[in-house]
Amino acid sequence: MACSEYEPLIEKHKAGAITEEERKRLDSHTKECFECRTLRDGGILPERGRVRERVKKNKSKSLPVLIAAVLIFVLVIIVVIVIRNQVRKGSGAASEKPKLQQVDRVLEVLRVPGVKRDDPIRFGKPGYEVPGDGRVIFELKDGSRVTAYRDTSLSFDDTPEGLNTDVKRGRCEFRFKSGGRVTVGEALVDAGGETTVQVNFTDKVEIRILLGGARVTRGGKSRAVLEGSTFTFKPGDSRTDIK
Ligand SMILES: [Zn+2]
Repeated sequence: MACSEYEPLIEKHKAGAITEEERKRLDSHTKECFECRTLRDGGILPERGRVRERVKKNKSKSLPVLIAAVLIFVLVIIVVIVIRNQVRKGSGAASEKPKLQQVDRVLEVLRVPGVKRDDPIRFGKPGYEVPGDGRVIFELKDGSRVTAYRDTSLSFDDTPEGLNTDVKRGRCEFRFKSGGRVTVGEALVDAGGETTVQVNFTDKVEIRILLGGARVTRGGKSRAVLEGSTFTFKPGDSRTDIK
């Protein structure tokens, strides 16, 4: 039945003269029909056709808008997740390094350009170059101290095994409180506990254990170097002396 056929029923409804059977018919139509429902409930519909079009238009307009909104929402969620992950990654790496850097600092510095007392220790390459008349004392987070004397080149690396100090040349002294690792030329010195290691790097490498003990690994061979002994080798040399 067309909407126009319901108009008399709507009039009857408004006049309170609608029968039970007519009301049922009208109700079942108004459930489906917005216009007739509006008319029945006293709404104004000056132009029936237009309203229907408008309702349809609104529907067809609102669907793409809804889809676009959902897409934008999903996109925003993805962007937020990506940013949060990156921030977490970044702060994960950053929150560990500054923790070390804040405590690991330059304790004393003598004539080394660009290095100041209380500077946080720089990690990675190129590290520190101590000039001929310079000296730097670094303090590590556990109270260990690294003294780099004149003409020394060294760098610090924050490795998963702990702090590793790489000495390229010169003379260094390591006073470890709770152990540490030093790479000297081709050798790796694993100092355990309270240990003092002196490294002289001239034409040959001399590793002296002044206090405590260490393991020195070179060319796949690992040896214990005890307090008072000296481990020497020439770079490229296969021979190693322990005195
Ligand atoms: Zn209708």
